[in-house]
Amino acid sequence: MSPFLFAGIPYEAHTVSGSHPRRCASSARNTASWRIEIRSTHARKGGKRLVKEQQIREAVSSILDAIGEDVDREGLRETPGRVARMYAEFFSGLSQDPAKELATGFEEGHRDIVVLKGIEFNSICEHHLLPFYGTAQIGYVPCGRVVGASKLARVLDVLARRPQLQERLTNQFVDVVYTTLQPEGVAVILSAKHMCMTMRGVKKPGSEIVTQASRGSLKTQPDVRRDFLAMLQEM
Ligand SMILES: [Zn+2]
Repeated sequence: MSPFLFAGIPYEAHTVSGSHPRRCASSARNTASWRIEIRSTHARKGGKRLVKEQQIREAVSSILDAIGEDVDREGLRETPGRVARMYAEFFSGLSQDPAKELATGFEEGHRDIVVLKGIEFNSICEHHLLPFYGTAQIGYVPCGRVVGASKLARVLDVLARRPQLQERLTNQFVDVVYTTLQPEGVAVILSAKHMCMTMRGVKKPGSEIVTQASRGSLKTQPDVRRDFLAMLQEM
């Protein structure tokens, strides 16, 4: 049975207790291999929003003109402004630090895998500036510290609100959780439909791209991975 049958069920968190007691050995990690740049280099200046809406308005006008449209006709008059505001929202994650979302975790002493299924997300493919959208599944083995389900979803949202590639989004999601929450292991699976595969080029509506990334025990220990995959199939 496909784990993606559960796609679309928002924020369903499951925990299971006890069959595989594991030691948290964060010192054993190879920190060099997973430390990548996730915090935006596009830092906010004085708290101001960075997206330059006026510049986007002009660019959209120019595109409409270039395709032979009359930019002054009634239906198009407000379009550049609408697109500019929309892009400011789509790319708002560029000026946010996803790690901040995990700052308010709590020590629970919970050491068994926690799985969050069916987190819906949408993002913009950086190759075509067209949307891709789908669901994420994430599982982590805490070293005692856990976070609310909505915080994990929020990390994904911050990362998705940037020009993205699904592969990079998957890796960044896993890395933010692994480096910030410091669990023993974490795994993410993203499954998404890409409008650039539906509307143009190969035109294959319905096809989905599935990506996965894992760190720590969820990468190296087959029994932990098995738990994760089994929990994805449970309702
Ligand atoms: Zn694309």
